Amino acid sequence: MPVYSHTQLETFRICPKKYEFRYILKPEVPEVATAETILGSTVHKTLARLFQDVQMGKIPALPEVEKNFDDFWRKEWHSGLRMSGDYDADDYKRIGLKCLRDFYNHHHPFNQSRTLGLDYRATVSLDEAGRYKMTGLIDRLAKMSDETYEIHDFKTGKNLPTQADLESDQQLTLYNLLVRQLWPQVEKVRSIWHFLRFDEMLETVRTPGQVEEAREKVMQRIDEVEAGRASGHFPTRVSDFCNWCDYKHICPAWKHLFWLEEEKEKIADADQGKQMVDELARLKADKAELEARIDQVREIILEFARQNGLSALFGTGQIAQIRDSEWPRLPDRKLNPEAREALEKLLRERGLWEKAAEVNRFKLDRILKDRNLPEDLKQKLRALAPMEKQFAVSVIRRKDVTIEEEE
Ligand code: SF4
Repeated sequence: MPVYSHTQLETFRICPKKYEFRYILKPEVPEVATAETILGSTVHKTLARLFQDVQMGKIPALPEVEKNFDDFWRKEWHSGLRMSGDYDADDYKRIGLKCLRDFYNHHHPFNQSRTLGLDYRATVSLDEAGRYKMTGLIDRLAKMSDETYEIHDFKTGKNLPTQADLESDQQLTLYNLLVRQLWPQVEKVRSIWHFLRFDEMLETVRTPGQVEEAREKVMQRIDEVEAGRASGHFPTRVSDFCNWCDYKHICPAWKHLFWLEEEKEKIADADQGKQMVDELARLKADKAELEARIDQVREIILEFARQNGLSALFGTGQIAQIRDSEWPRLPDRKLNPEAREALEKLLRERGLWEKAAEVNRFKLDRILKDRNLPEDLKQKLRALAPMEKQFAVSVIRRKDVTIEEEE
């Protein structure tokens, strides 16, 4: 099984298709580096160099740090970078220098903790058998005099997250897990995220329980990725992330739009596809309206029959029959979980569960995805209930166009 990183698993979570493009198919796509990326990498390299010097017993003066940044900047900056708004190279460079000056002034003489590693690559097994492996890159790993381990990460992003964002950040938990796994005797591990643009340090700790929970979740996610790899099924997941996806122009979820906008002449059927979608959307709207009216008329008929003691109403060519019957109402799993549980418990205790329960594909799918299911049982179940592809068409509103509502 491959070794997974947080970035890979996060890519899969955001969109399995993007994962397939990036890590399996690897199509050649024009890479447009952004000014933000270069800003991040040059600031990061300068700080790594700074702590490397400190490790060697040399505390560089601020002008020297600025010069190091300038050297990295010259090597990496080029005119093809994508910039946001009408900002230019000088603007980005100024931000980089400000990040470094603030950091320098805030932390000089850099003796708050001892550096154990810079760009520290850690790979660990998540289970005893060593099947599930995870790797992570820690910007700076350090140790305090009270034996607390610190995970430092340097961020140059434009947005300052909230403390709540940090508490739920899975990457932080995973890095914590990596450190605890590598040094099991360590009692305290804290994560320090430096938001350099704001000269802010946000800190968080994770309980062993949270780390265990994260380990379990990561293994589940790895199972999902592996299942995708085995079946070749990586569905698209359209979201706002598509706007920053390098594969949008070849993605099955967007290819038709590219045909319509850019390659219409080459693809004769592109327009026909558009007409079909428009027709389906129209039909669905009509159907929804009709269904609402059917419910309304049904209610009126029922009320009329109830009031007049009728069990059938006669139309011109049809009869509406009113059948009344009684069925047990199941307690809703979400609204009334206690009652639902009590009902199921009673059925089990009285040996009636088998009669009441039935297999459904959602439950079976969940069973098959359970990591602890023995492989031989999984294969037997798969043989009896083989996987089949199903296709469905749903219609959603396009966010990129405004459609005038018809009167
Ligand atoms: S464009 Fe969107 S749906 Fe397609 S691969 Fe990228 S993220 Fe996934």
